[in-house]
Amino acid sequence: MSASRRVVLLAGGVGGSTFARGLREHLRRTDPHARITIVANTGDDMWLTGVRLQPDVDSLLYALAGVNDTERGWGRAGESERVSAELRAWGAGWPWFTLGDLDLGTHLARTGWLREGAGVAEVVRRLCGRWPIGAEILPMTEAEVDTIVTVRDGADERPMHFQEWWTRYRASLEPVRFDNPGVAEAEPAPGVARAIADADVVVVAPSNPVVSVGPIVAVPGIRVALRETDAPVVGVSPIIGGRAVRGMAEVCLAAIGAECSASGVAQLYGARDDGGLLDAWLVAEEDAGAAPAVDALGIRAGVAPLWMRDLETSAALAAAALELARRGSAGR
Ligand code: GDP
Ligand code: CA
Repeated sequence: MSASRRVVLLAGGVGGSTFARGLREHLRRTDPHARITIVANTGDDMWLTGVRLQPDVDSLLYALAGVNDTERGWGRAGESERVSAELRAWGAGWPWFTLGDLDLGTHLARTGWLREGAGVAEVVRRLCGRWPIGAEILPMTEAEVDTIVTVRDGADERPMHFQEWWTRYRASLEPVRFDNPGVAEAEPAPGVARAIADADVVVVAPSNPVVSVGPIVAVPGIRVALRETDAPVVGVSPIIGGRAVRGMAEVCLAAIGAECSASGVAQLYGARDDGGLLDAWLVAEEDAGAAPAVDALGIRAGVAPLWMRDLETSAALAAAALELARRGSAGR
């Protein structure tokens, strides 16, 4: 490979940040001048007690900065919850939603800058400037397009914020559908379309297809950029052996009538040649049998170990994804 690569990663929080760390590690070893641009899901964002939360942006930032709580799987290491206890005593906010004290520092900084008139991309840039994270994180859009889940409630249906459904009800209320109100009019955040156009490869992280990758690719300008870029688009399956590794992808996929399988998610994303998202799709060794079905969709299938147990296995997974993209892009 001659010139250093420009890699764009579409990512949600936990699966996205684990993969992002592996990608950065792999590139440090093989292509130290490579540039990583992460387009982060902002569908999880919300207002709570007057502050703006951006869970997936923060998960990516904390993980790449190495200040995340690896045991709990979210938030900051060494976190305390004194402010949350006070908010509960005041009866403010959501009693079932804990805001860590360090995390609140992030939210207050963000909210202050937003109130002073900075755009969302500029705010994320300032947050990312605190640590040398070796990647650029861009919010998918600056518009507020928080994910709303419509749940079945007896004979009725009612909408609630994605965070309430997930954190309060642990996804136990049956979802009917997921919407990002306003997303059809939302523009990609500054820099996003350009990064995709200039990329040498675009990677779709092993993130939740419905509530992480779904909102990103629902931004019309991002769809167009992905369709038009000369870069190959390769995805990594978040499903291993027919199951979501962590999180609530299974119930999300069921709600939208997609099959919870490696080929089911490939079908949901679709082949780029066919108006969809993907040129190539990396499935787990456990799902090697799904490869012909993926190929039949017009998406080149690859098979690799997909468990991200540590930095080493995550870096190997990133290497496999880039290799799969490279194999098909010769002559493109
Ligand atoms: P969230 O925003 O915190 O929900 O995180 P993401 O959407 O980025 O990631 C959640 C997805 O990551 C789930 O669908 C999991 O199946 C997937 N995931 C988590 N760990 C792994 C792993 O080790 N390997 C793979 N292939 N997928 C994983
Ligand atoms: Ca998320």
